[in-house]
Amino acid sequence: MPICKACGQDGPPADKYSDTPLLAGGWALPINRLGYYNGFDDDLDGELEWVEICHDCVLRVLDVLPGLKSILHQMSPGGLHPSDASTPPCCDYAWSVTRGTGADDRVQLRAEGGKWVVHGRIIHGKLEIV
Ligand SMILES: [Zn+2]
Ligand SMILES: [Zn+2]
Repeated sequence: MPICKACGQDGPPADKYSDTPLLAGGWALPINRLGYYNGFDDDLDGELEWVEICHDCVLRVLDVLPGLKSILHQMSPGGLHPSDASTPPCCDYAWSVTRGTGADDRVQLRAEGGKWVVHGRIIHGKLEIV
């Protein structure tokens, strides 16, 4: 199990079929590339270093940085991480895909208020937002 560098907790791997150090639903931050000259960490350089943080730590960051939450939602209104549609969404940033009925191949879902809502229909491989 990969470990979150922020809280130290074990978390599920991003790809359950491999031993990747990335955490499912988490972030991998290029920690020594976040800054810039005269920025917060202008002294960090060298080899690119990734810091992995877990899903729940990402939620904590977004809760205290509402502007960042808004930007991410605008960039990806259909959701930010995949989840299993057979269980309730873990958070309002989850998305999933289910088998469609009729002409649509699949239905893309996004989490909203703790429930799954239809975000779009995938017809012949093309997403149509509803
Ligand atoms: Zn964590
Ligand atoms: Zn989530």
